[in-house]
Amino acid sequence: MNKCDFKVAIVGCGSVGATAAYAYLLSGTVTNLVLIDIDKSKTEGLLLDLEHALAFTPNIEIKASNDFKDCKGAHLVVITAGRRQKDGETRLDLVNANKKIFSDIIPKIAKSAPDAILLIVSNPLDVMTYHALKVSKFPKNRVFGSGTVLDSARLQFHISRKLKIHPSSIDAYVLGEHGDTSFPVYSSANILGRSLRKFEGFSKEMEKKCYEDTKKAAYRIIHDQGYTCYSIATAVREITEAVFEDQHKVFPLSVFLEDYYGHKNVCLSVPCVLGRNGIEKIIKVPLDKSEQKLFKKSVDTIKKFL
Ligand code: NAD
Repeated sequence: MNKCDFKVAIVGCGSVGATAAYAYLLSGTVTNLVLIDIDKSKTEGLLLDLEHALAFTPNIEIKASNDFKDCKGAHLVVITAGRRQKDGETRLDLVNANKKIFSDIIPKIAKSAPDAILLIVSNPLDVMTYHALKVSKFPKNRVFGSGTVLDSARLQFHISRKLKIHPSSIDAYVLGEHGDTSFPVYSSANILGRSLRKFEGFSKEMEKKCYEDTKKAAYRIIHDQGYTCYSIATAVREITEAVFEDQHKVFPLSVFLEDYYGHKNVCLSVPCVLGRNGIEKIIKVPLDKSEQKLFKKSVDTIKKFL
């Protein structure tokens, strides 16, 4: 492989994994893609379907496998393997099933791709990120979860519709658990430096509603469609691009905390600078008293499941 090559393995090629593969294909984010699933026929079907699109897309190498040895040489391994929520279940309800799967697959991935970055997507996201870090014994900059990148995109979308401003111009983030104790950081949310709380046309009621819609989003989509895949797959593509291009872009990712407002030995989402080596830096953002309380609630919740 030459120095511009970027190999990614997707482990778990269900709804999220397959859609992430499709997102990579459309934008040519990777040069080599390995699709791994316990169900080999699933990856073989997906492979053919994706390959038949190659006449219209950037030309990438794709391989289907159920052998973790094929992670060899991967710069990044995206892990979406595991059970997903059924209608009405919380993410934390998946903990036992998915911890068991991770205990089996992480050592195999770590053995065949010892220098890879692990991007965790399976739920409960923060618990699985912590588990992957401990089992792989990889350095903490190389194991992180997609975290509240998706929650933040959802919040930006809902605010954008109220204000009629593009979501990417809305500097508002959700931090903490990727789950029911996540919280929006409205105290510093802004649009090009103008505080969202002082923004013309934005109100306390809107603040509450935008976050409620964000928090309920996955439940609503799972109820209606059975699963979520497009938004998370697009977020995975963005995160992957930031690694490949060494962008040093900031994302709210689930990372191991050593002293974040005094919290440690837990994985939760906080703003991180992301580059070719994974997490380059964790940024300590100002949180007001109520946000600090909500952060602690996320920490306490996740710690019960580690
Ligand atoms: P899915 O059931 O469609 O796919 C899961 C895939 O994992 C299946 O193809 C299955 O065969 C595979 N798998 C199971 N055990 C495996 C093993 N030991 N080795 C390899 N592959 C294995 O589920 P999905 O909708 O794609 O969701 C996958 C995970 O992602 C779930 O845990 C879900 O909750 C999570 N998710 C996270 C986010 C997020 O924002 N982080 C968003 C959506 C879904």
